[in-house]
Amino acid sequence: MGGGPAGYAAAMRAIDFGKKVLLVEKAKLGGYGIYDGALASKTMWELSNKVKTVKDEIGQDERIDIPFSKVKEIIDEALFERKFQLSCHLRIIHAETSLINYEKGTASFISANEVLITKDSGDSFTAYAENIIVATGSRPRTLPNINVDEDTILTSDGILHLDKFPKSLVILGAGVIGCEFATMFSNFGQTKVYLIDRADRILPFEDEDIADVVATKLEENGVVIHKGSNLIRMDHNGDHVEYEIENKDGSREVIQVEKAMLSIGRTPNVESLNLENVGIKMSKRGIHIGDEDTRTNIPNIYAVGDISGHLALVNVGEREARHAVVKMFADFPVKPIDYKNISTIMFLSPEVAAVGINEQQAQEQKIPIRVSKVDYSTIARAIAMRKTTGFFKIIVSDDEDMKVLGMRAVGEHASSAIQAVALLMYMDKGIDELAHMIHPHPSIVEGVQECVRMLIGKSVYKSSIFKDKLKCYKRSVDGKILPMYTITENPEENMNREKQRELNDPNVH
Ligand SMILES: Cc1cc2nc3c(=O)[nH]c(=O)nc-3n(C[C@H](O)[C@H](O)[C@H](O)COP(=O)(O)OP(=O)(O)OC[C@H]3O[C@@H](n4cnc5c(N)ncnc54)[C@H](O)[C@@H]3O)c2cc1C
Repeated sequence: MGGGPAGYAAAMRAIDFGKKVLLVEKAKLGGYGIYDGALASKTMWELSNKVKTVKDEIGQDERIDIPFSKVKEIIDEALFERKFQLSCHLRIIHAETSLINYEKGTASFISANEVLITKDSGDSFTAYAENIIVATGSRPRTLPNINVDEDTILTSDGILHLDKFPKSLVILGAGVIGCEFATMFSNFGQTKVYLIDRADRILPFEDEDIADVVATKLEENGVVIHKGSNLIRMDHNGDHVEYEIENKDGSREVIQVEKAMLSIGRTPNVESLNLENVGIKMSKRGIHIGDEDTRTNIPNIYAVGDISGHLALVNVGEREARHAVVKMFADFPVKPIDYKNISTIMFLSPEVAAVGINEQQAQEQKIPIRVSKVDYSTIARAIAMRKTTGFFKIIVSDDEDMKVLGMRAVGEHASSAIQAVALLMYMDKGIDELAHMIHPHPSIVEGVQECVRMLIGKSVYKSSIFKDKLKCYKRSVDGKILPMYTITENPEENMNREKQRELNDPNVH
């Protein structure tokens, strides 16, 4: 049920096992993976980044006014390309194997093995299935006291359908999607952007050093961030929007803007499913999964992707979907999904990539850690790109093994560096391997290498010299910070470590 990234991935995995699949989609194949979601917004982000880069090169005051219609045209080309791929692929598999059938219609439960498919024409039919996967996704959450008309007050569903760049735009909610749209519209430089953030800082789930880089860049780009502010009201005022906020100090402001966008989370698409016909349990965030990863309380019914209320991401949805299919048909025990090592990217300015825990999570979970941080300004490639804002941060266990627990990267091409570390985590490896590999030069990933070298006391640049650019420290469970490695502090330990490594693997230095 549902032909977004999760439903599509499930269908394709099932045919690997020679199973017959019916994929039901009520609107557009690809869901938010393509339309008004991941691909659409990332196409816009790429374009906005190029515009910003050129503007930065020729001087901030220069304008490059691309019409919004052109932006939409480029987005539409990307969407068409992806949609065409998905549907051709599906049709060819259907023609060659007849394992997959695709139905355009709304699916709902009749019983635990029967699904009613209602077509747009009103016609309907019943399909029987041994197993059912619910992958009906989510939609933007709205608020009862704000009239979202997707014209003046919009959500991410409507924002890419505007006719022109608005002169001003307020975004309610400084989470990932809100910050991404603030980045994109401010990059194009044709819209004055306001961002309302209830918390004291944007991206509250990330470490403060990351949020600071992003907030500073947004502000440099002209974005006004209402920090620690509560929205009192947001109303239509003719063809404009008027909103009132209460600031932390109790003062109030009334501001008029051309458009507003709500970005306050997602709501699971369950209403049309008739879950009560089978007794599927719900959680606060979506369909209840419990310990039976991807399986609902009804043994032959699974819930994957946004509907499960886990991380709302394409890669997570696909992973859950593929896992559910294996679990469904395997005659052997299948290990639960490990959500710890999921890599994520936030498409901001600069981009932010993450895997595993950050410093604040380590503290919440009372894990003592070692941390090393390398500023982009010390990385040759970043200097060449003239994009020296950002840093890499690696978090390892505070013991001899120094197992990688997490990494954060903020800066140009940050996302291309995360997967190597994610792989180490997946393989439960320490950092030595990464320290010794020969990395291409000049490349951004050399920053990751310097991070791990710093942790084992063998970096090229020493943290005790470039104190503002390189940091290496232990962080205790109560948040105390103890700097590591000043020059010549541990010569014997360093030589012993080298000797040990030489004995283990003579190819490394
Ligand atoms: C603006 C935006 C940007 C994003 N950017 C990223 C990103 O950069 N990276 C990333 O990983 N993720 C991103 N996401 C999140 C990502 O798009 C979602 O997590 C992903 O699409 C979820 O996939 P899904 O298959 O679970 O659900 P969906 O994509 O929501 O698909 C569900 C499908 O089910 C259909 N459906 C619903 N009810 C029924 C029914 N009763 N019968 C039949 N069909 C039904 C819907 O029409 C829909 O096509 C973004 C989302 C948004 C909104």
